[in-house]
Amino acid sequence: METIWQNADSEERDRLTGVLRTDCVVIGAGMAGLMVAYELQKRGFGVVLLEADRVCCGATARTTAKITAQHGLIYSRLVRQHGADAAKLYYESNSRGIDIYEKIIRDKEIDCDFSRVSSYVYARDNVYDIIEETFAACKVGARFAYTSQTQLPFPVKGALRFDMQGQFHPLKFACALAKELRIFEKSPVVEIEDGRVRTTQGQVFAHYIVNTTHYPVMDVPGFYFLRQHQERSYVLALRTEYRIEGMYYSPEDDRSLRGYDGGVIIGGESHRTGNNFRGGCRCRLREFAQKYYPQAQVDSVWSNQDVMTHDGLPFIGRYSLFSPRIFVATGFNKWGMSLSAVASQLIPDLICDRKNDYEKLYSPRRVKLRAAAKDLIKDAGYSVRGLASGLLTDKKHRCTHMGCALRYNPDEKSWECPCHGSQFDPQGKNIFTPANRNLPG
Ligand SMILES: Cc1cc2nc3c(=O)[nH]c(=O)nc-3n(C[C@H](O)[C@H](O)[C@H](O)COP(=O)(O)OP(=O)(O)OC[C@H]3O[C@@H](n4cnc5c(N)ncnc54)[C@H](O)[C@@H]3O)c2cc1C
Repeated sequence: METIWQNADSEERDRLTGVLRTDCVVIGAGMAGLMVAYELQKRGFGVVLLEADRVCCGATARTTAKITAQHGLIYSRLVRQHGADAAKLYYESNSRGIDIYEKIIRDKEIDCDFSRVSSYVYARDNVYDIIEETFAACKVGARFAYTSQTQLPFPVKGALRFDMQGQFHPLKFACALAKELRIFEKSPVVEIEDGRVRTTQGQVFAHYIVNTTHYPVMDVPGFYFLRQHQERSYVLALRTEYRIEGMYYSPEDDRSLRGYDGGVIIGGESHRTGNNFRGGCRCRLREFAQKYYPQAQVDSVWSNQDVMTHDGLPFIGRYSLFSPRIFVATGFNKWGMSLSAVASQLIPDLICDRKNDYEKLYSPRRVKLRAAAKDLIKDAGYSVRGLASGLLTDKKHRCTHMGCALRYNPDEKSWECPCHGSQFDPQGKNIFTPANRNLPG
């Protein structure tokens, strides 16, 4: 089933053939790539955007499209692991991210159902985490309120509210940006080197290269596969008369809710990609919907996955020490809308050699071993197990990225890699990277 956002863009674009020269080449036309390319073009650079398939066919097409600086319990985590100053910068940059969208939408008169609404992180039972998050919100200077009043169809014990956040139709917005840009579709990048990228049928020479492919294309240098994994969640759009104002997330029972013009969007049932061999996620989400919205019709059900980092912060900046003219934006931890806007300022600032207050915070070169240790060990365990069982698995069920054994996800009817999160449909077609080849016939 398609998401409620799809079919906003019917325009098909050429594939890249032959050789091009430009200032900047951006790889991957999801929200991050479009926002970065748009800003670079605004600053006077010649920009070419290369997309493996169609514009916004990846995670951005399947998002719930909350544009907010409230990212679950992020501030208590950041204060604990990175200190109050870092948490403050995170708040500030993501709040600016919302303003960046609003400005583009206003300047370009983009009709994308954008509205400023409140965002809540709530608990129905144990409010300890919400109270801790409230203290952290206070430390970062956020404008917030603690309340138990919401528009949810069940009582909550406590909620932290941030006002003036945003929500929109992500593909109406993305397609409006895409119209302004020079994009080649069906042009997967297969090789990147300093000053040149090669697609299956062409190549682009550029001074600067920006990798916004969700999961980075190159394993070496950068070694992003050692520093991140992917997590899948499920989403259900309900057609109902009942409307909710605002956007909600409960870390306690992993439920996300927001309104849309047809009713309510509900998300949740997260798991590490490749770790849902028992299934039942879609079913549990439907039961939740049935319980609280018994009259509603299910409009659409889908799932999505995002790249998760070990320390809760994305990687936005120079790809590696050895590639100063190659940049990356990845590891959005399921909050890639506001963070794409952050990337859209930070990467062009680095290219223009302009000071940016957030450079250090998001630097891919940061080493936060203490914050990352637990997840690093866990990921290493997955990789060792995945690679070892890959040796005993037939080729058809071995990931084309590094050869880890794939696991079946009955909810998706797909094959997924528990090591780095690649996904393949039942016919073996590669859906989510880092793998970029289909499974053998
Ligand atoms: C269930 C769920 C709900 C979410 N809801 C929210 C939300 O409410 N708010 C929020 O802020 N975030 C949310 N997120 C996260 C958000 O959707 C993502 O962080 C964001 O969409 C990522 O955008 P992107 O541009 O990095 O990736 P993508 O949208 O995946 O774009 C990457 C593009 O690169 C292309 N590509 C890949 N490889 C190549 C190659 N070799 N050559 C050329 N192109 C290539 C792909 O085809 C794709 O089009 C959610 C995530 C999940 C899992």
